[in-house]
This record gives sequence, structure tokens and C-alpha cells, in this order.
Amino acid sequence: MDQRTRAVHVVNQRFPEGSWPLSVPLVQSSAFAFSSADALAAAMAGPDGQYVYSRRGNPTVRALEQTLAGLEGGAGAIAFASGMGAISGVLLALLRPGDRVVAQRCLYGGTYAVLSDLAARHGIHVTYVSGDDVGEFERAAQHPATRLLVLETVANPTGQVPDLPGLLAAARVLGVTSLVDNSLASPVLCRPIELGADVVVHSTTKYLAGHSDVLGGAAVFADDGLRRRVWPRTVELGACADPFAAWLTLRGVPTLPLRMREHCANATVLAERLAGDGRVRAVHYPWLAGHPSYAVARKVLSGGGGLLSFELAGGREAGRAFIERVRVARIALSLGGVETLVTHPASTSHRELDAAALAQAGIAPGLVRMSVGIEGVEDLWEDVERALS
Ligand SMILES: *Cc1c(COP(=O)(O)O)cnc(C)c1O
Repeated sequence: MDQRTRAVHVVNQRFPEGSWPLSVPLVQSSAFAFSSADALAAAMAGPDGQYVYSRRGNPTVRALEQTLAGLEGGAGAIAFASGMGAISGVLLALLRPGDRVVAQRCLYGGTYAVLSDLAARHGIHVTYVSGDDVGEFERAAQHPATRLLVLETVANPTGQVPDLPGLLAAARVLGVTSLVDNSLASPVLCRPIELGADVVVHSTTKYLAGHSDVLGGAAVFADDGLRRRVWPRTVELGACADPFAAWLTLRGVPTLPLRMREHCANATVLAERLAGDGRVRAVHYPWLAGHPSYAVARKVLSGGGGLLSFELAGGREAGRAFIERVRVARIALSLGGVETLVTHPASTSHRELDAAALAQAGIAPGLVRMSVGIEGVEDLWEDVERALS
């Protein structure tokens, strides 16, 4: 089935009568009533029984979980309060002291922070690899305690796309569970489970919900046995999705393929024009020929996505000045919403880093990050032109 059809036909619960609501009802209830004590006791069995208490399961949340599992081609999913809830929940559920993790070096800051914390406080050993070299991963994963490979479909803000087919196949051979953060690509541009991933995580806050009005996260599992093992740990953690947040996220899903098409088209136009501008030293967008991940991106993605970054020739001052001059784009840290957002990492998210540390993180002082929205592309280009001059 086409992803556009899957996205429109979000999963709804079954209703006994002859008619039912077209949209998924919002069941804003913390708990559920039963007709007998035995019925309540029977419902406590596992993740898929009757609803008991909304931390364990809720009809609106389950509709989101089943919708996301369908979009990612997984056996099942667990929804969380945020993307970090999903990432922390899965890492805490899968890892124990002494385990080893191999992770891609260019990772979302929050994921890097959780892995560092697990290493410092829980005796988990983390090795970082480039993500471009299967041999390097195989060497890093030689230790028999290696449990988990952590990757991102598209890294932020470099646009790096790791060699997902090669790395996921190697992980499978070595018996290492693989986790891919697919937030930036969304299941419209990539379905990592089809490439061999065991777990796909999302910050649904970004493209899936898409309207900058709700936080959420999800983990989708290729194998339902793994979901059933992880589920009790996530009930203990309590980072569950709220029904209203799940409902807002479901409200965004049907238009995800349309929005993604516009994000990709707009970002491609801006990236090409920026690359041809003398005031810009470099453009990082995986759909542009010349990007280090270009060949892999063309193989594993069906579009370049909405996130691009570029280095201004004028360095730090030029980067700061750029984001202060935009009128259509907004200065804000998130990404994946309908509106275009810009940030200057060197003076905001990475301001504590000195020149050497910035260089190590691959952040040029004049780097501007842009989450390209779905506005008219000529308005966006006019905005960029104005801010450049
Ligand atoms: C935003 C983001 C997260 C964290 O998600 P929250 O919903 O903010 O908790 C994780 N991974 C990636 C790639 C992200 O962009």
C-alpha cells in the first residue's frame, strides 16, 4: 500500500454499532471501569488486553501506536511522552551494566547525553563510529558484550546519512540489536525496518505531528516479542503518551506525505540556490551532489528532507546577523513543523564550545541551520536573500 493511503487511513478502534466516528475519538480518561472484579483482573495481563489505566494503555494512544507501526512496517509500537522518553525508555529497557553500545558519532544531543550518563553511572560502555564504514563497526562490535547499535537516518545538522543497509545487515549477523532514530526522515522518506532495523524511534514532535503544537515520541518494533519485553519497563518508567497528545499527533499524520513532499521540494530549491551563491561557503543537504552522503541518501531515502544547513563566508558574525534579518522564518530551536525555523548553533545550542570543540562537532562558526517549512518557496528565497545581503 502507498504511504499516502496508510497515512490517511489511520487505525481506529472497532465499534460494535452500524456507524462509527470517522476520526479517532479522544478518550481523555486516566482509568477504565469494569463490570466485575474478574474482568479487571483478566485485563491486567499484557499490552494488548482491555484498557485498565492509561499509563498501561489507552484507545487513542493505541490508535497512534498501530498507525505508526503500519507506517514503519513494524509489528507493533509504544507511544511515549516525547522523543527522549522513547529513546530513554528503550535504552533503559534493553541495556544492563556491562553491556556495550556502538553508536554513530554525529548523534542528537539528547541521545548523546543519555548514552554518556549510562556510561558514567551504569557501567555501560559506548564506542562511537563514523557510520560510513561497516568494517569500523564490525571491529567495534567484536566484544561479546556488544548489545546495541544506535543510528540516525539523517543526522542533524550535518545531513549525514549512515550506511544503513550495510550497518544493519552487519548488526544482524553479529546478533547486535539495532535502533534507528527516524525522526528527520519520517516513514515517508525511509522505512529502516525494511533495511534490517530492530527498533525505530521517533520524536513525533517533529514531522509526524508536524504543527509545532505537541511533544511526543514512539518506538516501533520489527518483532512483537521485543515490544512485549520492552513494554513492562516503559510502564514502570511512566513516560507514556497522554491521550490528547496522541490525538493531536494523529491529527497530523494524514498530511505527513503531502507536507514531506513540500518540505523536500522547498529545501532542495533553497539548497541549490544557496550552493550557487558566493556568500555561502558550503551547503549541507544530502540530496545535493557533492554531499558526503549523497550516494547513500539516494539509495535509502526517497527525498532529501526538510533540514539543511549552510556556512556563511563571513563566519560567526555573519551567522548571527543572518538569523536576525529573516522575516518569514522564525528563530526557534525545533524542526519538522510547517513553518520555517532558523538557528545559529555557534551562538545558541553550541555556545559553550570553543573554536576547537566546535570544529570537532563539525559546526562551523558561520553555520546556519534551517528547518524548511511548507511556505511558498519564493517567499522563503526572498527571505534568505534579504538576510544574506
Ligand atoms: C527532537 C529530537 C529528539 C528528541 O525528541 P523530543 O520530542 O524533543 O523529546 C530525538 N531525536 C531527534 C533526531 C530529534 O530531532
